Amino acid sequence: MAVQERELPANEVLLEVKDLRTQFFTEQGVVKAVDGVSFTIKKGKVLGIVGESGCGKSITALSIMRLLPEPRGKIVSGTITFYPPEGGSVDITRLDRHSAEMRRIRGRHIAMIFQEPMTSLNPVHTIGDQIIEAIQLHQDVDKETARKRAIEVLNQVDIPHPERRINEYPHQMSGGQRQRAMIAMALSCYPSILIADEPTTALDVTIQAKILRNMRDLQRQYGMAIMLITHDLGVIGQMADEVLVMYVGRKVEQADVRELFLNPLHPYTQGLFRSIPLIGLKGKKLVPIAGSVPSPYNLPPGCYFAPRCPRAMDICRQEAPAEYEVEPGHFVSCWLYK
Ligand code: SF4
Repeated sequence: MAVQERELPANEVLLEVKDLRTQFFTEQGVVKAVDGVSFTIKKGKVLGIVGESGCGKSITALSIMRLLPEPRGKIVSGTITFYPPEGGSVDITRLDRHSAEMRRIRGRHIAMIFQEPMTSLNPVHTIGDQIIEAIQLHQDVDKETARKRAIEVLNQVDIPHPERRINEYPHQMSGGQRQRAMIAMALSCYPSILIADEPTTALDVTIQAKILRNMRDLQRQYGMAIMLITHDLGVIGQMADEVLVMYVGRKVEQADVRELFLNPLHPYTQGLFRSIPLIGLKGKKLVPIAGSVPSPYNLPPGCYFAPRCPRAMDICRQEAPAEYEVEPGHFVSCWLYK
């Protein structure tokens, strides 16, 4: 599909997701994995997406990358508009996912890193060959230039002796180094947007802190945007500028990170804060959120959080709440704020 006229001014919006609905068609029924989610990703900013597993965070990311296991998983409506640096705009949902244009966007403009590095790294090729191949796929450079660039990015993600380690296979590296190598591969083409899906969950705390610091430095250096998916509010507090909270495929709250930490409004967000240990709240009793996430095949009518919500009212069990802007830039989908 041809790039259209740019509809938004160059106001730093790189990606605009509008009323996205992604569903899975299974033998047991239809799963509404992403159910009407809207947000924007802005240049040089980190958007954190938080929620329990199964809340639709990763499916939102796979929808943007057009990496859903089609035809079982499908974007059924909504738009995902990407604004390339060279101008114009393109609705990703209307592209053929195997098309040259989608392949160019994926990797060159929007790169993704996963919790498990072996999802991206091939065990039978050296780290260097894989990064060089990614660079040459998206940039018109010779192998020597690509090799220099690969060493440079490995150095930027703190892999020691990159000129030697470039010849190693993934299994010769530690878990933390493999994670860094995957980040290096994603960064090697200077993407405008990096989608990081639980990038440090499998690592120990010290390495996790180092990698997050590293990602933040690189993000500032490149002016890149990051969409950071995590279940960990601590990671969100450390990294994000803006936060979106998801519950069972729906966005329930969105705010600037400081505002969200100081003033969480949705009962689910409040429950998340009460259930995790955070620095500065030492000695505070942790209270897990009662009940469990409803089955995607048997969702309650109205607000999906109602069966677990300590403040649920009659209307909550009948009708889903609309989204209200309670403070400028602070949105919440809850009847309490009508
Ligand atoms: Fe609780 Fe009702 Fe708000 Fe849902 S809409 S979070 S049930 S108060």
